[in-house]
Amino acid sequence: MKLNLKKTFIETLPADPVLDNSRRQVKEACFSYVIPKHTNAPEMLHVSEDMVETLGMSKTDSSSEAFTNVFTGNQVLKNTQPYAMCYGGHQFGNWAGQLGDGRAINLFEVEHNAKQWTVQLKGAGETPYSRTADGLAVLRSSIREYLCSEAMFHLGVPTTRALSLALSGDEVMRDMLYDGNSAYEKGAIVSRISPSFLRFGSFEIFAARQDHKTLKTLVDYTIKHHFSHLGKPSKDSYIQFFSEVSERTLDMIIHWQRVGFVHGVMNTDNMSILGLTIDYGPYGWLEGFDFGWTPNTTDRQHKRYRYGNQPNIGLWNLYQLANALYPLIEETEPLEAILENYKTDFEKKSLKMMQSKLGLTLSDAKDSELIQSLEDALLLTETDMTLFFRNLSNFKKGDAKKGLAIVKDAFYVFNEVSDSKAQHWRNWFESYDLRLEKEPLSDTERKRNMNAVNPKYVLRNYMAQLAIDDANKGDYKLIDALFQLLKQPYAEQPENEKWFAKRPDWARHKVGCSMLSCSS
Ligand code: AMP
Ligand code: MG
Repeated sequence: MKLNLKKTFIETLPADPVLDNSRRQVKEACFSYVIPKHTNAPEMLHVSEDMVETLGMSKTDSSSEAFTNVFTGNQVLKNTQPYAMCYGGHQFGNWAGQLGDGRAINLFEVEHNAKQWTVQLKGAGETPYSRTADGLAVLRSSIREYLCSEAMFHLGVPTTRALSLALSGDEVMRDMLYDGNSAYEKGAIVSRISPSFLRFGSFEIFAARQDHKTLKTLVDYTIKHHFSHLGKPSKDSYIQFFSEVSERTLDMIIHWQRVGFVHGVMNTDNMSILGLTIDYGPYGWLEGFDFGWTPNTTDRQHKRYRYGNQPNIGLWNLYQLANALYPLIEETEPLEAILENYKTDFEKKSLKMMQSKLGLTLSDAKDSELIQSLEDALLLTETDMTLFFRNLSNFKKGDAKKGLAIVKDAFYVFNEVSDSKAQHWRNWFESYDLRLEKEPLSDTERKRNMNAVNPKYVLRNYMAQLAIDDANKGDYKLIDALFQLLKQPYAEQPENEKWFAKRPDWARHKVGCSMLSCSS
């Protein structure tokens, strides 16, 4: 296994001088050296061939014993020094102090094809940041992270990637539902990959501690290595840096809204500074279109991180980042202007995204109204988001009267579409049809465009759960089947038509399918 190893993070940024792996507050340092835990019987369950190649490895490498050992933390490569990162964060709206990589351990950086990557293990044992927890991860949450991060990539959503999914061979105690019933589960380790795992909270921690020196060192590092086009450190480049983070964050969230992804825990420690989807925990996919839906049972009461609130939370989180960067900028106006821009850009980009879902290439003054009326219609009765938009591409100019029949499969209970609801839908299809008259594209061209933004296959909550149930019994075939399916989410895959269907009824209230706790 020949990797082009790099050490820019640990060689540039201040390290925690304490080497023992005890839980503590780590000051004036960006990371702590820590060795992953030896595991009992590491077993590779799945490898992303895409990522093997991206990192400059071969197929032979990925089936070797060394690969299994390295990517489960059982072998530390020569000349590498694994480390856990120090960060803080706002959790559910409140400053939570130091959090850090409590169960993530960065192994090394790799440069391949002029791209920089950091390789990180999740679930490889405790670190100085583990607080009261064990540093481990269970199989179910690891399967969810592994499958979803690769699926999101193929959907065109900015995301961290995953290289491998392995069993540790150890058992991990979890109270899955937080109801006092703890049980042993299989432990697992995902190796995940990103140009950087820095989060908003990585910057907030130094601002909160008024350690402006380390804050500046970290910002300068981030700009130099990840925003190098912004040039030398200066007030202007710091402002520009914040502006780009803001833009990338918004773009990522617009993609989430487009595909119906709900992150579930948008705390600032889970917001990547590169605008990538990171930390797949109790996330979920909209089945019935519903702005109020959240998969996270921990958030059941306030639904802070519900689907329709994600863009607002992105903005709230950016406010926290602006506060953290303020000591280096010392002017509020430019930061406020960027935050204001987020709001107007959101309106523009959101409209554009919805127009693309409807196959509209031109802009019409009444498009916002058309979209609002559609959203109202989608909320009238439980309507599957993925099925609806995908089937809508079969609508042809002049089809107004056939509209309902074309999208019929998307309704969970068609009988619930009462006369008045059906009338709303008929009116909407009339307006849509009229609107399409103004479009230059043919029905076929429009369908092709729509099918490139409205996925046919997403990782529905019950699908991941089926793979988990099988895996817990030692059968890993479905993990691979879903992995392959989700590599081409926009393609017609006739042999996989069974996954282009509404959530089955048994999954409506099943744990893991409709609700998830943060236990992982
Ligand atoms: P999350 O909201 O899942 O991203 O986690 C919030 C914080 O808790 C992060 O600092 C994690 O590293 C930490 N954490 C979560 N689970 C564990 C665990 N099992 N062991 C140690 N730290 C954990
Ligand atoms: Mg996290």
